[in-house]
Amino acid sequence: MHAPIPEDYFQARHQFRLAAHEHGAEIRSYPVQVRGPNNEELTIDAAIIGSATPDNTLIVSSGLHGVEGFLGSALQAQALTRRMFKPRSATDRTVLIHALNPYGFAHLRRVNEDNVDLNRNYGSDSATDNNCEFQYEKLNAFLNPGNPPSRIRNTLFPIEAYRMIRRYGLPMLKQVIAEGQFQFPNGLFFGGTALCQATRIVQSHLADWVAGAGHVLHLDIHTGLGKHGELKLLLDNRYTTVVHKGLKTLFPAVTVDRHDSSGGAYQAKGTFAQWCEKQREDQSYIFVCAEFGTYNSLRILQALRNENHIHHWGTASASMLYRAKRHLRDCFCPNSERWRSHTVATGLSLLDCASSA
Ligand SMILES: [Zn+2]
Repeated sequence: MHAPIPEDYFQARHQFRLAAHEHGAEIRSYPVQVRGPNNEELTIDAAIIGSATPDNTLIVSSGLHGVEGFLGSALQAQALTRRMFKPRSATDRTVLIHALNPYGFAHLRRVNEDNVDLNRNYGSDSATDNNCEFQYEKLNAFLNPGNPPSRIRNTLFPIEAYRMIRRYGLPMLKQVIAEGQFQFPNGLFFGGTALCQATRIVQSHLADWVAGAGHVLHLDIHTGLGKHGELKLLLDNRYTTVVHKGLKTLFPAVTVDRHDSSGGAYQAKGTFAQWCEKQREDQSYIFVCAEFGTYNSLRILQALRNENHIHHWGTASASMLYRAKRHLRDCFCPNSERWRSHTVATGLSLLDCASSA
């Protein structure tokens, strides 16, 4: 039997709220002004445990990339059920934030209702920065085909991808993906031209969630990037080696990679991590992205392109869209007992270590 990963957003939210309630957590729900596939209300939910005036706050968030939310949600609910966040001292606080992009989670999209990658939507300077547009423009026809979706077109993806890699090189393809773009609203990796509602909700409540704690550790759970079933923690290069070493000590069984989003070959703009870090000058807010690998990046890109193409074309059949969405879900939460039980076990160990920090 599969590890208990929810079937859809609604089951995920139900499990999360139930586990939070049974734990005695305070639950806060923040509705977004957009509906589910059957006109249901969609919410970002927070479960708060422990001190109202903490020294240390642990934040665990899930679902910033919508359809990536299945594993993160399961980990939050299961960790609650196992009482992992029971405060060890009177000054500890834990805040679990469920489904940062509830639309994408419910509709099986990686983006929100405006086709925005919310992890490129957190900076007001994003839309005016055009560093990447020239490069993205070159790839636009490949990433966002201008002819009707068809099974043949999708089958040809590996050949097209191979041509693009030969022409521009894999680093450039990866760069465009990592960077985001602000010019093509229906294109992949669009960062939006203004702050989205889900982003505004998080920005206006983060201070309440943190509650003035001197130290914050924030784990933001994602799936997709990396080797199948492997967990990696990604820390921005701007953190000192002391922070990096501290994380390696806290999570001895996990690789903690520093990644360069400020001085390397590309500059990702408007990420959630950057915005959280900016709230403190002294690095007392440590933001770590926890990535669980699923499949190779070209396979994921193909699934993203296909779903985005069908979603925007408008004339595709319902069954074609359904298949594309199911496939996308499987890309970010593989339908494999081995992957699921392994990542759930690894993820629960991670949260156990984090809660003892
Ligand atoms: Zn992600």
